[in-house]
Amino acid sequence: MVEKTDKIWMDGKFVSFGDANVHILTHSMHYGVGVFEGIRCYKCSDGRSAIFRLKEHVDRLFNSAKIAFMEIPHSRDEIAEACKETVRINGLKEGYIRPLAWIGQGVMGLYPGDNPVNTAIIVWPWGAYLGEEGLRKGIRVKISSFVRGNVNSMMSKAKICGNYVNSVLAKREVVKMGYDEALLLDTEGYVSEGSGENVFIIRDGLIKTTPLTSILGGITRDAVMSIAAELGYSVVEQRFTRDELYCAEEVFLTGTAAEITPIREVDDRQIGAGERGPLTKEIQDAFFEVVKGNKPRYEGWLSYL
Ligand code: PMP
Repeated sequence: MVEKTDKIWMDGKFVSFGDANVHILTHSMHYGVGVFEGIRCYKCSDGRSAIFRLKEHVDRLFNSAKIAFMEIPHSRDEIAEACKETVRINGLKEGYIRPLAWIGQGVMGLYPGDNPVNTAIIVWPWGAYLGEEGLRKGIRVKISSFVRGNVNSMMSKAKICGNYVNSVLAKREVVKMGYDEALLLDTEGYVSEGSGENVFIIRDGLIKTTPLTSILGGITRDAVMSIAAELGYSVVEQRFTRDELYCAEEVFLTGTAAEITPIREVDDRQIGAGERGPLTKEIQDAFFEVVKGNKPRYEGWLSYL
């Protein structure tokens, strides 16, 4: 259960947790056209708190809104500042930030007319999404029978609420079977991404990740590509098949919630030695140094509260 916090930012004002409600005729509740972000704030080594890649997340929120034909009635700077303020006002040192914009109440039917676009920012403490043990030892994933939507039907570059029906179905399917996370293939049968994460494979020192076709352009994915290159590894964006994945030496997922989570098994096939691989650990360690403010080169990715 999400831990109750004190205040939620709604349409420019702070309201108490219990008052952050919407009407049942909220258009997005019926048809799924809302957009959101998932952002993390980390407690840095010097005791300050910093939001990781806030600008990129806010930009993606506005791009999602553009794709969804929604006009967020606030500037990017206002939303960025409100994210910081919501963390501060709730006294959190670290946690998860969820900006959400939706089409409010007015007309019903598929054409939302002039219904208002409402916005909220919610924060809550959130530990390792796929478990602390998952981060250290790796998780077991299964390829779902649900497929990522065709690039002309599911706007995968947008974090549109309705897109996540596909992800929730995939995740529920595999969790019921006893796995930790679902991987989805694209409509052509190539590996796409996890239910809420991008995927990387490593073989013979070469790091591969899915190109920006049927996937969300992950901000952690982008961070990992930079960090891995700085560590001296070659990273390519190239399609790969499930059998290439089975034979990889290391596989890991990236996402704001999942951070960098190693995969130790795919479809009951052990990956590498069946534990977190050495390159994954090296990249993971470097990533956590970056988010905690220990790598001056990446200071630009941190927005201190
Ligand atoms: N793919 C999907 C479908 C996601 O929901 C997410 C989480 N936002 C990601 C990938 C990873 O993106 P990011 O690293 O920006 O969180």
